Amino acid sequence: MSAAGASAQELEEQAEREALARAAEMGIHRLAIPTPFMVGRVNAYLIEDSPLTLVDSGPNSAKALDELEQGLEALGHRVEDIELLVISHQHIDHFGLAAILARRSGAQVAALEALAPFLAGYGRQAELDDVFAERLMLRHGIPREVVTALRAVSAGFRGWGQAVEVTRPLRDGQELELAGRRLRVLHRPGHSPSDTVFVDERRGTMLAADHLIAHISSNPLLTRPLEDTGEEASEQTRPQALLTYIESLRRTRAMELSLVLPGHGRPIADHAALIDERFRMHERRARRIAGLIAERPRTAHEIAQELWGNVAVTQAFLTLSEVLGHVDLLLRDGRVVEEDEDGVVSFRAAR
Ligand SMILES: [Zn+2]
Repeated sequence: MSAAGASAQELEEQAEREALARAAEMGIHRLAIPTPFMVGRVNAYLIEDSPLTLVDSGPNSAKALDELEQGLEALGHRVEDIELLVISHQHIDHFGLAAILARRSGAQVAALEALAPFLAGYGRQAELDDVFAERLMLRHGIPREVVTALRAVSAGFRGWGQAVEVTRPLRDGQELELAGRRLRVLHRPGHSPSDTVFVDERRGTMLAADHLIAHISSNPLLTRPLEDTGEEASEQTRPQALLTYIESLRRTRAMELSLVLPGHGRPIADHAALIDERFRMHERRARRIAGLIAERPRTAHEIAQELWGNVAVTQAFLTLSEVLGHVDLLLRDGRVVEEDEDGVVSFRAAR
């Protein structure tokens, strides 16, 4: 208890209100849009500037559109007023509504150049992602029936996304110029291959999407590389999502920032402390997994079961991503080795 008698939660809520008020003074307004996903609401940000800019859209659903419209209206705007739509990365809770918003408003759509083909060909690209995930899961010991069930779940979610044409491709390092500010476009892959953050260097403010989230560690999901067409045996080049993510976090940690506005949940005031906490957590998990592998060789799926028990089918891919990310740290440090037996990989301690 503090002297004022406020609980930790009350203090947190007060800090959140103050941070959002600071953002609002800069003309940046958070619109928390509902999603059907476990993560809960997704944050879109309206930047009152010229052009009137919306960063991320929420998923493709009537409920999301309705709440977005209400949020805009409360700020004195309509969907039709949006002039620039910026997409942070390839997840449907962030871009699902973009096509509808662009059609209604005539807004330009800005996203990383390398992400444009994915967004334009969303349906086919989502299919390729599923093929990639399926191969990876079978290769790492997840039973066939779980893989089949997950495929159905994924197909069921597909409608929350919709293909959208990028009319303003962005390059890493360039500046997006609005009348009242410049936003540095920075590619920060790891959570997904296309994660892009937007930094107002003068105001020390970053729009971070899922690159950094306060209340959950952004799971670096094993994802098909953007340039991978799915034709080749992708399992030979398993992306090292956690290593990529840690490198991206290091670059963000080195920046002077006083406010980070994430894609989910509350604003972040001390990004360096939060990133340090994440680094410690990843080290702890890697140590724990090293211990399990030292006992006997195990597949990634066996390690996940040891750590979390028989997780829900829908979590099988998340936990696999989590385990493989940490195994990658151990592989990099020469502490474990990978063995392939009849197309299924297990890990054993390095001798
Ligand atoms: Zn995401």
